[in-house]
Amino acid sequence: MSDRYGELVQSPLGRKVAKNLGLPMPIKLDRYELGQPVVRGELALGLSVGDDNSVSDALADILQVHQAKIACSEPERFALPSSSIKTRLEDENARFKVVIFDASNIKSSEQLQQLYQFFQPLARRIKSSGRVIVIGRPECCTGTDIGFALAQRALLGFVKSIAKEFKQGITAQVLYVKKGAESELAVALEFFMSAKSAYVSAQAVTIVDAYQSATPSELTAFALNKSLLDKKILVTGASRGIGEAIAQVLAREGAKVYCLDVPANLAQLQKVAGRIGGYALPLDITADDAAEQIVRACGVLDGVVHNAGITRDKTLAKMSQEQWDLVMQINLAAIVRINDYLLENNGLSDTARIVCVSSISGIAGNLGQTNYATSKAGVIGLTQATAKLFAGTARTINAVAPGFIETKMTSQIPFAIREAGRRMNSMSQGGEPVDVAETIAWLLSPRSGGINGNIIRVCGQSLLGA
Ligand code: NAD
Repeated sequence: MSDRYGELVQSPLGRKVAKNLGLPMPIKLDRYELGQPVVRGELALGLSVGDDNSVSDALADILQVHQAKIACSEPERFALPSSSIKTRLEDENARFKVVIFDASNIKSSEQLQQLYQFFQPLARRIKSSGRVIVIGRPECCTGTDIGFALAQRALLGFVKSIAKEFKQGITAQVLYVKKGAESELAVALEFFMSAKSAYVSAQAVTIVDAYQSATPSELTAFALNKSLLDKKILVTGASRGIGEAIAQVLAREGAKVYCLDVPANLAQLQKVAGRIGGYALPLDITADDAAEQIVRACGVLDGVVHNAGITRDKTLAKMSQEQWDLVMQINLAAIVRINDYLLENNGLSDTARIVCVSSISGIAGNLGQTNYATSKAGVIGLTQATAKLFAGTARTINAVAPGFIETKMTSQIPFAIREAGRRMNSMSQGGEPVDVAETIAWLLSPRSGGINGNIIRVCGQSLLGA
């Protein structure tokens, strides 16, 4: 649905009025277009002082492919040709689209000063829809070294603050990569450098060793913008909204998409499936034999996206048991049943990826949504527990937690609450279904084997539960 206010402030007059009245001024976010390069401008790279070069070496390998123009804090220490960032900043017209800081060597509160030294001169030099990525080490690496642990945790506070300060559609994240797993960094780094991550900000992603890396043919497909070539993927709730966008993006990436939705939406479902060359599967996921029917129709799946979901909002005092039960059945119990059946009946390939769609309501809670927030928090618990089960296998499971996304679901929210939900984030606007879809496509990639049990918010850094 359209954001009229957002469109109004794109015009010179609307912008002037909004500025004078101190109103939110959402900018048009850069979004991915087919064939667009991952790095869309000059890149600034900072290296923390220390003797561990494993992250910076991995960065050199990744960035080499993207042929970015790089200005580095220590060009002599970096394995790719780069200019000195100090010299580069003397040109007052120098602006950066991507800023990366390798903080893996920061091991004490004193050393955190390096964040200030690197980022302060850059604070006004980042282009709109720019990308800030800080790379650190996760808890499993810092252990009981208190200085190391506090410094690495501190990165998140820094990143969340600049995500709020920099505005202009600039996103910021921390990628915590386990020592020895640097080769798994590429796919996450590429997602966060690109326009595909337009509405994902202030996130911490943990990257560990992949049990199995992508095969040469999967890597070739990725290079040809077909990251999911021939993968059989089921998307529930695919006839409209976020599910429809997921189906479209997965098909663009070469997947064979099985589009599932309730039989009542068959016509719309067939339209979506027809448009993307996928298969329509009219089915209610709460049916007793839903999982069996899925296996019968799809065979062995390489991916499942549990997207179908409903709201039945009422304060608890006014909520009927039917409203509670229906939400719990569709949003949570059906996912458990389908996953269990697929796992017990060889319905998932050895390298399968599952992505669940949770919600920031499941993280922050929400007035009038005890049933919905309980179900979506349950989805997070399910994801994290299943991730433990998948550790030591080539399968992964992750969840996305959308914030305010412009769909039929959110168009039904009363105007004042809708407008508040839409603006209460660092982007001052709602996200598009495609923002959730791109995030899911990244998590489904054969190259994402090192990402398991993560909960990624797609919410433009919503203030809720932040
Ligand atoms: P939507 O209502 O537009 O689409 C949901 C789809 O799920 C519909 O096509 C519906 O028919 C289908 N569905 C519902 N019950 C089903 C069942 N029993 N079996 C099969 N299909 C069923 O909603 P949306 O906004 O696209 O949301 C998609 C997902 O994203 C949901 O899980 C929702 O909770 C979550 N989410 C949405 C937002 C948002 O702002 N739109 C925010 C957070 C989370």
